[in-house]
Amino acid sequence: MPFTDLALSPKVLSAVEAAGYTDPTPIQAEAIPHVLDRRDVIGIAQTGTGKTASFVLPMLSLLEKGRARARMPRTLILEPTRELAAQVEENFTRYGQNHKLTVALLIGGVSFEEQDRKLDRGADVLIATPGRLLDHFERGKLLLTGVEILVIDEADRMLDMGFIPDIERICRLVPFTRQTLFFSATMPPEIQKLTGQFLHNPVSVEVARRASTAETVRQLLVSSSTTPKDKRAVLRREMQNASNLSNAIIFCNRKRDVSTLFRSLQRHGFNAGALHGDLDQRERMATLAKFRAGEINTLVASDVAARGLDIPAVSHVFNFDVPSHAEDYVHRIGRTGRAGREGDAITIATPADGKYVAAIEKLIGQPIPRQEPTETDTPADRPEEKRASSPRRGKQTETRTRRQDRPAKASGSKSEEGRGRGKRDSDRVVVGLGDHVPQFLLRPVRRPAPASEKD
Ligand code: AMP
Repeated sequence: MPFTDLALSPKVLSAVEAAGYTDPTPIQAEAIPHVLDRRDVIGIAQTGTGKTASFVLPMLSLLEKGRARARMPRTLILEPTRELAAQVEENFTRYGQNHKLTVALLIGGVSFEEQDRKLDRGADVLIATPGRLLDHFERGKLLLTGVEILVIDEADRMLDMGFIPDIERICRLVPFTRQTLFFSATMPPEIQKLTGQFLHNPVSVEVARRASTAETVRQLLVSSSTTPKDKRAVLRREMQNASNLSNAIIFCNRKRDVSTLFRSLQRHGFNAGALHGDLDQRERMATLAKFRAGEINTLVASDVAARGLDIPAVSHVFNFDVPSHAEDYVHRIGRTGRAGREGDAITIATPADGKYVAAIEKLIGQPIPRQEPTETDTPADRPEEKRASSPRRGKQTETRTRRQDRPAKASGSKSEEGRGRGKRDSDRVVVGLGDHVPQFLLRPVRRPAPASEKD
């Protein structure tokens, strides 16, 4: 189906054409007609599916009638992170190139004054993180009674970040009669409750995760001792040995570790940047811009940075830590292997990570291939698995072949289960390691670091 069948306005269609898009993605084809019909919509879709345009394009069409009044935005889009908010703003600039609409971005880490000025002039579109929006509201700079369309994006991320009370409060501040567009990659019970409370007779539109991600990403699990210094040495070895590494995102579980690892990589001559929630906003945007432009090729990041960043063609993702939420693994490795390109996702696992690895394998429905031992590995490093004879790094065990035989099916609802949240169900097939922690993951690794290492 071409875009022209979607009843979008000529101005919007010409911007879509300029963007080079021919056909709408499934979420766009399904959601746009409902949005144009003024229906409330629940979109179950993750980033990379084209979901941003699925609300931005019809909103632009609807906004062509009417104009903004001072301090009374006409539409409000809530995003969990500053980066996502900035990306949605970019989308409005791109698709709204034929419109004269005022877009205001209210995010933390930048001064209130400039944001106040934009609000005073009247915003057609207000894109905000919940905390900063409520700050402006409490300072009396903002009235939400003129909001015609409310978009809540990445709702499950909002839940993870503790924003649900803020969202509930905001939903009560906007008019009851507004149209609500609600997007989430998964629908845990807390999110379902929210939609039941604040949406009116919504239509649900669901698109599967992009299967291409799982199929084009080569996954590998590499073992290390728990010592951070050893883990850093393993990471450097993997980065140096990686074939076709053009740029990489390295994920850490804790912000503190992002900074430590970033400094260590810099000391070792890597062209690296760091991205996590505690950094100054300007610094985060500048780092991201440098990474996009290829000025730096290694980005050390926390999970907050993982969601929604549209960075094309990342060749490698490294998990410096195994994520404790299985779903974060899917999001992290989704940064590579995008749009049919090949990618590598290499995860460093310590003996303490067994249960997290098992949870991930259960979620993705396949075992993660283990790395064969390198010549320098001590016997304690070696996974107790049957392996082929080559000792070279990067060759993978039989599990790899099994994985190819059985492509991943990580649907949205599956990831919801994988989040765990106290649910146990004995009916499901145990995949990979199941709940069993193999002995090799529990054994300490004795591997003295080379004396030349400074960190
Ligand atoms: P999103 O899921 O909104 O983060 O979008 C993911 C990527 O898909 C972005 O780079 C968009 O520019 C791109 N995109 C969105 N809609 C289309 C489309 N209809 N055809 C091709 N690319 C698209």
